[in-house]
Amino acid sequence: MRLTRYFLPVLKENPSEAQIVSHRLMLRAGMIKQASSGIYSWLPLGFKVLRKIEDIVHEEQARAGHIAIQMPTIQSADLWRESGRYDDYGEEMLRIKDRHGRDMLFTPTAEELVTDIFRAHVSSYKDLPLTLYQIQWKFRDEIRPRFGIMRGREFYMKDGYNFDISKEAALHAYNRHLVSYLRTYERMGLQAIPMRADSGPIGGDNTHEFLVLAETGESEVFYDSAVTDLRFGDREIDYADVAQCAGVLEEFTSRYARTDETHDEALFNGVPEERRRVARGIEVGQIFYFGTKYSEAMGATVQNADGKPVPVHMGSHGIGVSRLLGAIIEANHDDNGIIWPEGVTPFHCGIINLKQGDEAADGACEALYSALTAAGLEPLYDDRKERAGGKFATMDLIGLPWRITVGPRGLKNGVVELTSRRTGISEEMTPEAAVARVVEIYVPHLAAGRAG
Ligand code: ATP
Ligand code: MG
Repeated sequence: MRLTRYFLPVLKENPSEAQIVSHRLMLRAGMIKQASSGIYSWLPLGFKVLRKIEDIVHEEQARAGHIAIQMPTIQSADLWRESGRYDDYGEEMLRIKDRHGRDMLFTPTAEELVTDIFRAHVSSYKDLPLTLYQIQWKFRDEIRPRFGIMRGREFYMKDGYNFDISKEAALHAYNRHLVSYLRTYERMGLQAIPMRADSGPIGGDNTHEFLVLAETGESEVFYDSAVTDLRFGDREIDYADVAQCAGVLEEFTSRYARTDETHDEALFNGVPEERRRVARGIEVGQIFYFGTKYSEAMGATVQNADGKPVPVHMGSHGIGVSRLLGAIIEANHDDNGIIWPEGVTPFHCGIINLKQGDEAADGACEALYSALTAAGLEPLYDDRKERAGGKFATMDLIGLPWRITVGPRGLKNGVVELTSRRTGISEEMTPEAAVARVVEIYVPHLAAGRAG
């Protein structure tokens, strides 16, 4: 993409409505625009990152054997009356009447609808296990929408639902989700710690939340610092392998890590003092096992091996896809702007032309642009007739992890400059070497996507 042809409405001033850095930077970098309280339009740069995050979620769900569907945002109240949640859900549910006076609602989550799909089409244990998921807009009429897209009223969420014949099988689905979520967050450059949580109105005994550590997080968290040494890394996981998934879950959840809702001071005091940490975190996902709560209320049964009808065991599992943008920025920025992790960056590499209109500089930039594009990468070429300082400021603000700077002086010596946004370290090299380096850096990220 050439900047002169792009739509990147960056703001010079700090927007006064933003209280936290991710909200401020998303507005300043022209990623989102508020449409009304807690509801946002996604401008090109923001939308691009949102789709990168969404792609990673899809790829990792596919890897775990989960199947994508898409359910409507507007649902009939009738199903929610069957489960009893139409009355229980309270003010957060946006309720609508259609022209015939029928009660409708904007989906805050979709347990009822997916259970209805299941009961209409699945009748035998032979069709299990089954996990269906979607990535879809949700609406919750939050009492205090804030922090931009972090606590919006309309937000984008991955919600998945497992159907299993027994508690044991459903707990495998639970473990499998935990493992696949760990890999998902790591691919986005985030460390999300699974923490024992409170099940809240959804009900159920087993639930973990995934928290990204950040000073601006809404939850207080208590953990053994040993959990932050754990990495999912390149492990090859066979998601069908019950023992393997249980092993990873055990490894990541055996250390003390809880939110304020389930914090147990006595247990926490059992952690060696030098490893006890109290911090704040952003919830970027949650998994639940809730047994037969919905399947019993809504008659979702299958024939078991003895031919007897039994209610299926279920769980639901969510990732805050839009909130993740905020969480990633909270965890990756400096005074000059965002620093995207390679896995989610909107463009792979920036190209800055220090002297637009100079024949040699223009030619070198075009050649870099073509070479990066031919290698399957997306460069962003700042081809504006603007002073160098302005170009650097914009590039730092929007946070591309790599930048190639091209100027007539360097070209005389046959070199351009490759700069890491994260470290600020620049190196001079030939344009060919710069392209080769950038391509090499992205190989694991592109490969991770294809493997899904
Ligand atoms: P919270 O406690 O933050 O209100 P929740 O526990 O009600 O969230 P879940 O039902 O677990 O949310 O939804 C799954 C994920 O969706 C959450 O982990 C979070 O990342 C995201 N999410 C929930 N509410 C919002 C919101 N209002 N804006 C943006 N993302 C949200
Ligand atoms: Mg939650």
